[in-house]
Amino acid sequence: MPLQPETHGTPVAPAVERIPLVAAAGDTVHTTCAYCGVGCGVLATVEDVDARQVRIAGDVEHPANLGRLCSKGSSLGETVHLEGRLLHPEVHGQRTSWDDALAAVAAEIRRVQAEHGRDAVAFYVSGQLLTEDYYVANKLMKGFLGSANIDTNSRLCMSSSVAGHKRAFGSDTVPNCYEDLELADLIVLTGSNTAWCHPILFQRIKAEKQRRPELRVVNIDPRATATNEIADLHLALKPGSDVWLFNGLLVWLAAQGSIDHDYLSRHTSGFEAALAEAAVTAGSVLQVAEATGLSEADVLTFYRWFADTARTMTLYSQGVNQSSAGTDKVNSLLNCHLATGRIGKPGCGPFSLTGQPNAMGGREVGGLANQLAAHMEITDPRHRDLVQRFWQAPALAADNGLKAVDLFEAVHSGRIKLVWIMGTNPVVSLPDADRVKAALAGAECVIISDCIADTDTNRLAHIRLPARGWGEKDGTVTNSERRISRQRAFLPAPGEAMPDWWIIARVGQALGFTDAFDFRSAAAIFAEHAALSGFENDADSVRRDFDISALATLDAEAYDQLAPVQWPVRRGRPDGQARLFADGGFFTADRKARLLPVTPRAPRNATCAEYPFVLNTGRIRDQWHTMTRTGLTPRLLAHLSEPFAELHPDDMAAQGLVDGGLVALRSRWGQMLARVQAGGGQQRGTVFVPMHWTGALSSQGRVGPLVNPVTDPVSGQPENKHTPVALSPWQPAWQGFWLNAEAVELPEADYAVAVRGDTAWRYELAGLEAADPQVLADRWLPVTDGEWLEYADLARGLYRRACLRDGRLVGVLMLARDAAALPERGWLASQMGQVLDAETRRGLLSGRPADPASDVGRTVCACFGVGEKTIRRAIAAEGLDSVAAIGRCLKAGTNCGSCQPELKQILATCGESS
Ligand code: SF4
Repeated sequence: MPLQPETHGTPVAPAVERIPLVAAAGDTVHTTCAYCGVGCGVLATVEDVDARQVRIAGDVEHPANLGRLCSKGSSLGETVHLEGRLLHPEVHGQRTSWDDALAAVAAEIRRVQAEHGRDAVAFYVSGQLLTEDYYVANKLMKGFLGSANIDTNSRLCMSSSVAGHKRAFGSDTVPNCYEDLELADLIVLTGSNTAWCHPILFQRIKAEKQRRPELRVVNIDPRATATNEIADLHLALKPGSDVWLFNGLLVWLAAQGSIDHDYLSRHTSGFEAALAEAAVTAGSVLQVAEATGLSEADVLTFYRWFADTARTMTLYSQGVNQSSAGTDKVNSLLNCHLATGRIGKPGCGPFSLTGQPNAMGGREVGGLANQLAAHMEITDPRHRDLVQRFWQAPALAADNGLKAVDLFEAVHSGRIKLVWIMGTNPVVSLPDADRVKAALAGAECVIISDCIADTDTNRLAHIRLPARGWGEKDGTVTNSERRISRQRAFLPAPGEAMPDWWIIARVGQALGFTDAFDFRSAAAIFAEHAALSGFENDADSVRRDFDISALATLDAEAYDQLAPVQWPVRRGRPDGQARLFADGGFFTADRKARLLPVTPRAPRNATCAEYPFVLNTGRIRDQWHTMTRTGLTPRLLAHLSEPFAELHPDDMAAQGLVDGGLVALRSRWGQMLARVQAGGGQQRGTVFVPMHWTGALSSQGRVGPLVNPVTDPVSGQPENKHTPVALSPWQPAWQGFWLNAEAVELPEADYAVAVRGDTAWRYELAGLEAADPQVLADRWLPVTDGEWLEYADLARGLYRRACLRDGRLVGVLMLARDAAALPERGWLASQMGQVLDAETRRGLLSGRPADPASDVGRTVCACFGVGEKTIRRAIAAEGLDSVAAIGRCLKAGTNCGSCQPELKQILATCGESS
């Protein structure tokens, strides 16, 4: 087979595609949220097309959320403006036409493969892509470029679940559905801060628990997170000890006679070996307690509840997956569900909560380097043959490609010369991220397709292709419960932005694969994807779980109207299927599930004297990934606005750290600075740092450079939850903040963080070298025209400056030697852009309002912008004694409910009960 086609097509000008319907003012479009794997239905009502004003509400008809939205989903309408968008193709920094950009991409792919072989090119794609985009990218790489070097950022969040599913079920199948959360009598949450990371599912569980208090919830997590609000039992196990706990559960279930032997014998194999292995290391409750650091009583309570509750759901997420033993952790808990026959039945089953909006869709089309398409395997010759014939592929990949961490390592070593990154930001999100940055800086050709112009990754690209964003894209996504939903366009595409599928297809055609990539619409791609899922999917030897062939004949109109449906959607069963495996029917050769012997093992790269703390990274309530979208919304930055490191107060004291001070974190791979946050929920010896901050928003706030790059040997998922680090106080010579009406380049300072506000940008600043504060002030807020207020006490290192123009406050700079000498930011920020009266002017440089009631404090409720001081004052003045009472008085907590755990904490510290 020739490496390249005999004839090369010429670049194709933007073909007339089927432009998805764009709403007119007043129209309401049913679409889905752009963020997490819950996959909530959203109603987008376009209020002004030209101004891109959109009203957002939850879709009561969507089965995932039934009308609810969390703080992130609720604020989607604030993210559709054009600020920061990439609007035109660029080659080497020069704006160019689509024809020339596509020709440049095709020429580079052709050149690199001709000079260095098929595997010298790679695609790195994203769970943010729609299924149709993903399908075309995978088809081009694995079917026509002859390599499987396409991997997705879902590798970082879900690949251990995929691998665990495949080892146990023979397929990557989530057996249950969200409705089971309301049918369960016991819900076990493990490795999941559901309250913050899957908020609408948390709200569903919470509502059910309020309705049915006998519903028990167990939260297995080294941290005490907001999810504990609904937990009857919190198992704060040692980081990484999950397999001991679930192996011990298997042993205990067997000892108590809680095994479903009928299900085992009819539908599974491997029980005896799995049990024997579990008994070696976790044969007694005492052994489990010692290995996990839990009390015997707590372990026993969990085991009893599990054994006694037929309707048990186990929900798991990144705390399980992001581990060098992630796949084993998954299989250890799947073993317990298979052994009890609690799978795929109403109210019982294991349930992987996916991180991204379309991680599942990506898995369905083969977005991982070790998958083919439609849940088929590259390493299975029957699958390769089937896909090759279906695609008429000239160069089907012969073997698995490189998984994300290895893929970027190959870019670093020069094995991969060209990488095309679509809709993701690996310079922030991958472990050992500075090495990834160096890899891209040294690569021959970096291509990006993205809707955002300036990201840490996009800064390193040679070719930049403008993609359409949420609200402009048209396609499908699949959520955690296998539900395929339409994401619909309702805004016109700006500039020359095009759908990702269009960009990839046109490159395919420019490479000469004219017919195979002659896609004119998302609907046409979906039809082909659905047809492939059903292609020869009937013979037992190649029967696959993923089958949506009943949707293969949808015409464009029916595709536009497609209602949310759970796959499989087989011919003869067009309404889909909520649950699988209650009666077996697994996708292994003998149709039986496998229980696996799992040997517990500690995380790789243990703590040591030099790096004594365990760094755990994760999400926070109001941010998403690398903040390219949620960072556009001031109210989502109001809750937690700087990179922080949460520590146990005793560890803080031992390390000389203070709440609100700065800490330097250092690992074998990198370092960062963060604001110290006291967290009673942290175990001693552990530190939590959010994953979100980028180099574009912070000088030293990226946590990725520190993160342990070791991976799970089966799934290739990195160990984001367990990096040994050292901590030390970072004591600057000066620190301060600058409020400015306009956004500016991130100021040059040892510590700098940009925070978008409603009225102004705020820059948190600090420096190690002693400096004249007036000189610093002149650098950032130089005295020019306008009216200036100044206060200096240089002996104490205090300097304050404010600028008014036409009576309006446009800039404030406050510097001090000690952080304690700086005022709170909230009130000053609220004055930006205001015409100040005489009294406010007099008090401005004190940073405190004359009327204390106008200082609302740190934002707690992002939906309604309610601050902590307002809440505390209302509790005191009105005698509020419950979260509900706060809601009635201030509305706080009455929209998405995500802040309710924090409202409870505030009530508790006010001495009231909730
Ligand atoms: Fe979006 Fe929130 Fe729903 Fe997740 S839970 S899909 S972020 S609205």
